[in-house]
Amino acid sequence: MLWSSFYLPTLKEAPAEAEVVSHRLMLRAGMIRKLTSGVYAYMPYGNMAINKVADIVRQEMNRAGAVELSLPMVQPADLWRESGRWVHYGKELLRFKDRHERECCLGPTHEEVIVSILRGELRSYRQLPLNLYQIQTKFRDEIRPRFGLLRGREFIMKDAYSFDRDDEGAERSYKAMYDAYARIFTRLGLRFRAVEADSGSIGGKFSHEFMLLANTGEDTIAVCSACDYATNLERAAVTPRGGKNSLPPPPLEEISTPGVKSIEELCLFLDVPPDRTLKTMFFDVDGKVVAVLVRGDRVVNGIKVKNYFDAALAELLPPEKMAEIGAPAGFAGPLNLAADYILADHELEEGGGWIAGAGKTGFHVKNLDLERDARVSAYADLRLLTAEDPCPRCGASLELTRGIEVGHTFKLGVKYSAAMKAYFLDENSLERPLVMGCYGIGVTRVVAACIEQNHDADGIIFPPAIAPFAVEILNLDPKSGKVTEKALEIYDIIRGSKLDVLLDDREERPGVKFKDADLLGSPMQVIIGARGLERGIVEVKNRRSGAKAELSAVNFAAGFELWKDRLLEEWSPRPSV
Ligand code: ATP
Ligand code: MG
Repeated sequence: MLWSSFYLPTLKEAPAEAEVVSHRLMLRAGMIRKLTSGVYAYMPYGNMAINKVADIVRQEMNRAGAVELSLPMVQPADLWRESGRWVHYGKELLRFKDRHERECCLGPTHEEVIVSILRGELRSYRQLPLNLYQIQTKFRDEIRPRFGLLRGREFIMKDAYSFDRDDEGAERSYKAMYDAYARIFTRLGLRFRAVEADSGSIGGKFSHEFMLLANTGEDTIAVCSACDYATNLERAAVTPRGGKNSLPPPPLEEISTPGVKSIEELCLFLDVPPDRTLKTMFFDVDGKVVAVLVRGDRVVNGIKVKNYFDAALAELLPPEKMAEIGAPAGFAGPLNLAADYILADHELEEGGGWIAGAGKTGFHVKNLDLERDARVSAYADLRLLTAEDPCPRCGASLELTRGIEVGHTFKLGVKYSAAMKAYFLDENSLERPLVMGCYGIGVTRVVAACIEQNHDADGIIFPPAIAPFAVEILNLDPKSGKVTEKALEIYDIIRGSKLDVLLDDREERPGVKFKDADLLGSPMQVIIGARGLERGIVEVKNRRSGAKAELSAVNFAAGFELWKDRLLEEWSPRPSV
């Protein structure tokens, strides 16, 4: 590709709203342009990177025996009513009516659609197993679209759905997808880890999230130092230690604490450590007010609160509602409270004599005993795991690292097929629901996450497998016929070796070209200028290491071949699971 005939509008500065590095670099490198919140145009350079990822995904899905199709994006509400998700999916589902007043939605995922199509025609066990996939645009009306392609509302996903006759078959299909995912991220040249996801209702250890490791990641992953346990911190269960209090503390005592609102202020004011205090958080869980108690130094895990009630929605209660239920901001506690439920973390079953808000402005209480003084509805696992908690599986120590979820595999079982009556006939002509799995990869998110993982102060450092152009040639003297001729000759040589190559033939200063090349992030740069050619050399640069070398201009092909092979070897896939 010649830069002069491509469309590659690079920017010196990124718009201020871009908060994370991948978003900034993708805007600056002309990869994306924002249309509206969470909705982006994939510009030619960005589109090429997306296609590189999609190609490898497609190859590995096909290799694993999955079959590609393409499902509609507009979906009728009735299907979602059948599965029960019209209600449960919440506001991420973008709903609208057509001209006949029929309710529809834009597909955020396609379980309902695929099941509705197959249920009429996939009738015999002989047609199983089957795995169908697509690579297609999804829409989710995310509450907080942000970080460019990392969390868009419109994005590209590869979604696959497997169908089996029994659990054993479904587990084999799952394993095939797990292995395919490991191959995909390895081939893409990305550092990743497969972590066990929620062990909640969907299916225990048959749910994994594939995380790209990047210290800017949204997710924190807890990784065991001894066994192969790895999990998303948000979902990590905390093992209760199970101690009980034997001696009740002295009687409850009210203390005046004017203006002391935060746990930090309280600890300073009373000179106590935060693990002696209680924190009370309030949630609106499907319209019910739930007070959640954890130790002052802990963090409430909203997902666990939601899961505890198997609720559709659990959100922090807005401040104006707090006053109504007897929870003055900064002084709320389990006393004098009109909440529907008071949940306390397991940890609060042991230890006592807590310090907590008194439920009236300007006061706290000490010597609080939850059994004696409060009305706790239940104790449960409600807090975030910390690095000090032991591994829930083997008890060894945990390490917390950051990552970005790029893929998700689920063993669904018969959740959708039973609800939507998708049955097949087994060998004995008995009707049985199809046993399903579903498997997603956020293709556009992979590109952004790749940049979060691979960049420096100057710009993107693409792994060769994702780089839109594996090689960029910089013609430093486009006005010189000799240099231009050599640049074109080298351009043809590299194209001949089946690498995608960009030739910067613009009439720009060398400084501009150097900067742009580093920003765009092709892993290999070839720099051709009049001065070098006088000495019979062209320069090559390894974008990642910064190392430069001089190659003979006359024997360029041979020298480049060797240099390129060594560089690709540095990037060559090393499995990281
Ligand atoms: P998240 O927890 O990040 O919202 P999710 O659990 O909702 O993800 P899935 O429903 O499992 O995601 O979707 C499969 C894949 O689609 C995810 O692993 C991710 O790579 C991608 N994905 C999901 N939501 C988005 C989004 N808003 N923008 C870009 N990619 C997304
Ligand atoms: Mg989501």
